[in-house]
Amino acid sequence: REYSSAYGETGTRVVKIGDVELGGDEPVFIAGPCAVENHDDLFRIAEKCRAAGAQILRGGVFKPRSSVHSFQGLGSAGTEEAIEALTWLRDAGREFGMPVVTEVRGEAQVDLVSHYVDMIQIGARNMYDQDLLQTAARKKLPVMFKRHFGASIEEFLCFSEYIAAEGNKDIILCERGIVPLGKGKNFTRYMLDLAAVPVIQKETYLPIIVDPSHATGRRDLIRSMSLASIAAGAAGLMIEVHDRPEEARCDAAQMIQPSELKDIIDSARQLRKIA
Ligand code: PEP
Ligand code: MN
Repeated sequence: REYSSAYGETGTRVVKIGDVELGGDEPVFIAGPCAVENHDDLFRIAEKCRAAGAQILRGGVFKPRSSVHSFQGLGSAGTEEAIEALTWLRDAGREFGMPVVTEVRGEAQVDLVSHYVDMIQIGARNMYDQDLLQTAARKKLPVMFKRHFGASIEEFLCFSEYIAAEGNKDIILCERGIVPLGKGKNFTRYMLDLAAVPVIQKETYLPIIVDPSHATGRRDLIRSMSLASIAAGAAGLMIEVHDRPEEARCDAAQMIQPSELKDIIDSARQLRKIA
């Protein structure tokens, strides 16, 4: 096989992100806004996510938007803006005791981002960018690797090997929904492939988490899909959270309140004990 077995590991690898261990018995919760928008929103949301039980803080600085005319993330405005946003993210994480993760949209961003984060995120749209994968892998930070919405499980695992083959096996795989079928309305943004979770656990040593936020695009589905993911064996969840979603510049419809995050985390931890 072209993945995992070549590296001689069995069972699930436990990946350390800062001082958080992902891949062990306890599910890990990554939460935060879609994008880093300003200092005050980020710090307020981060504090509430931490209080809700989240262990890792997320926030996009370089956003992979479909339209070039949409908000691209503060980092896309220039290096100074990127440094400012990355500093907020790092400092919010430090202040509330959470390692941080953000996405790199291109190779040119990897070096800068690596100085501020505890984990590098490769977004769904870049799953096939081998050069980006290799450049990110060489930073010796854990890499969160998201499945492309058109990729088979085999392709997803094959491409994760571009990271592992650089000598960096600290990879977190992330299922975030695939393209829906047919011509009619599907009612969700993507189609969450829950069976990918146990399949990937059997096929590879890498921990797999689920992002129900981008998979559904709907806040009313986050709880059910989160718990279904935990029941399926997910090593963790990444959930978008905002306490004033109506003010958010992207993905407002899918971000849940911190109070709902707490409910989900509490229920998920209970469920893990019996699932
Ligand atoms: C994200 O997690 O911020 C994101 C843009 O997700 P995806 O790459 O899965 O669309
Ligand atoms: Mn988002």
